[in-house]
Amino acid sequence: MPNSPLVERDLKVLWHPCTQMHDHPAVPLIPVRRAHGVWLEDFEGRRYLDAISSWWVNLFGHAHPAINEAVRRQLSEFEHVLLAGFTHEPAISLSEQLVALAPPGLTRCFFGDNGSSAVEIALKMSLHYWRNVGQPQRTEFVTVAHSYHGETVGALSVSDVGLYKAPYEPLLFKAYVAPSPDCRLRETGMNCAQHAGRALAGMKEILARHAKTVCAVIVEPLVQCAGGMRMHDPAYIKGLRALCDEFGVHLIADEIAVGFGRTGTLFACEQAAIRPDFLLLGKGLTGGYLPLSVCLTTDTVYEAFFADYSTGKAFLHSHSYTGNALACAAALATLEIFAQGDWIASNRGLAAVMGDALGALRDHPHVASIRQTGMIAALDLVADKATGQAYPGRERRGLAVYRYGLEHEALLRPLGDTLYLMPPYVIQEDEIRKVVEVMAAAIDQATA
Ligand code: PMP
Repeated sequence: MPNSPLVERDLKVLWHPCTQMHDHPAVPLIPVRRAHGVWLEDFEGRRYLDAISSWWVNLFGHAHPAINEAVRRQLSEFEHVLLAGFTHEPAISLSEQLVALAPPGLTRCFFGDNGSSAVEIALKMSLHYWRNVGQPQRTEFVTVAHSYHGETVGALSVSDVGLYKAPYEPLLFKAYVAPSPDCRLRETGMNCAQHAGRALAGMKEILARHAKTVCAVIVEPLVQCAGGMRMHDPAYIKGLRALCDEFGVHLIADEIAVGFGRTGTLFACEQAAIRPDFLLLGKGLTGGYLPLSVCLTTDTVYEAFFADYSTGKAFLHSHSYTGNALACAAALATLEIFAQGDWIASNRGLAAVMGDALGALRDHPHVASIRQTGMIAALDLVADKATGQAYPGRERRGLAVYRYGLEHEALLRPLGDTLYLMPPYVIQEDEIRKVVEVMAAAIDQATA
């Protein structure tokens, strides 16, 4: 069967995420017939290597037998029940395991059903904590330049990517924006740690000025992903923890994209040896199977809400699908896969292959800033390598790379002109080399 009947039906009724629909059908829409491991397959038998883990959610490949089986098993018991007044073993086991795996001191799990919801939960919980402990004047948040935390109104308010945010400004609350620790922005002669120190000085100024009204700082530890795969030194996260302690504000670590081994450790915060007050997980939590997110927090936060009902201190936040049993079962199976192999070590090997393969692009006249943190590697297309001058956005060079990739068995979905690899952990070395070859040819064509 050709792809076209489904594409025609789709374009009559669907509105796709993060898409200018006018681009279709000139940019092909690919109906997926099946997916297995790192490969997606369409109805015409063409394959696409999922080099971006289907928006960073997939860890161990599509249609993983153990996760399939776990979801099936749960399905034979029940699919979903409300989590207020009722509970179930998958949610309890998952919470126990997350508490055991997370930095010590994160003892409570509050579930949401997508990453943005987890961000909303943390923002509301932090503000409500301060209210419950007699500091209701704390109503503000600090974020980091180029951050991305999701699309809902609160998450967008603490994000700093104009493309996604600008049209909605009248809806959003103001957050203070601290300088980005993105190592590419360092002055000549500085290293990443020194640049992190510079960014921390900017953060300190904001916190000093607003010490009495800020609830929390929110950060994407080690890699600011949707903002352009901007990477920073762990010293920044360590310093940020110290600043939050100094000024008595919460630290929210949004590990929705970078958690579960992406950066070379199970959680990115481990590389800074810190414990945030809120740790947000999503995406890979279910191995890329089902929507689920979680906000982990401390006893201190939990206890500030624990009081007689009449005090009005309860956290009355809910989502219909909170703690969905099928999603929890998928998450438990994902953690079981982690427990059965040394994925952090095998990822080190794969990451080295990624680095080595991308090294071939180092001298390309239109490639700049090849960078890598664990299983995330990125580079930028530039008009002028010497000055770092970007291409005009309207030229959509990244889109040309995407289209070339589709024609050559690779799903590369650049962020503007930033190309990156964030593959499932079951990718093979030869597949990494192949996808980088496709990327290189795509760059040649897109910049010719
Ligand atoms: N935080 C970060 C760091 C993210 O990368 C994303 C999604 N790309 C989100 C939050 C939002 O997650 P979701 O798309 O599941 O709402």
